[in-house]
Amino acid sequence: MISDNLNLIRQQLPSELTLVAVSKFHPVGAIVEAYEAGQRIFAESRPQELESKALEIQLPVEWHFIGHLQTNKLKMVLPYVSLVQSVDSLHLLKEINKWGADNSKVISVLLELHIGAEETKQGFFEEEILDILFNVSSFPYIRFCGLMGMATNTDDESIVEADFDRIDSFMAYLVELFGELTDFRQLSIGMSSDYKLALKHGSTMVRIGTAIFGPREY
Ligand SMILES: *Cc1c(COP(=O)(O)O)cnc(C)c1O
Repeated sequence: MISDNLNLIRQQLPSELTLVAVSKFHPVGAIVEAYEAGQRIFAESRPQELESKALEIQLPVEWHFIGHLQTNKLKMVLPYVSLVQSVDSLHLLKEINKWGADNSKVISVLLELHIGAEETKQGFFEEEILDILFNVSSFPYIRFCGLMGMATNTDDESIVEADFDRIDSFMAYLVELFGELTDFRQLSIGMSSDYKLALKHGSTMVRIGTAIFGPREY
């Protein structure tokens, strides 16, 4: 039961932590069920799926986007979301800023830091994020809210913890260095398999799919 899963997870999370329910590949009915159990924030990873669910659902839910976003798909995503968690390139950031200017909307984003071992994984290197944050004035339509990361996909907890530790330390460094960026406070780390470890490493936001909705059908 989705409501049982949600209650079980909530019991394990500190009250100030944000639980994002990852509803990708699950039907709108599952989202409604989670909503009725009190969940308000949902995340999707594919533009088309986000747009169709956002238009279909008749409930005041909050949407986050967590997948790779191509710049030609911005209009399917940006009108609906309160946070883009997965900004992974300078080109994308510039295009989001431009869309924000054209539509008079400031877009809240997290910058995705490449932390896992997988070479294919998206994300910035530390130096690139520093460059961006030294130049926030170039992005008047972006609100920088923090970092997102995905740990290496492994059963070896020491590797996952090392990944989380790295992003947690970098986050602390950025908060110190850019103290005037008062919105830059969110650290989105932790998924179904590793959120308990993420809680030990400064997570302020977990993104949980399978542990709430069950396995995805591809
Ligand atoms: C799918 C996805 C999740 C949720 O994964 P689960 O293992 O189902 O909890 C979290 N973050 C991102 C970026 C995802 O794509």
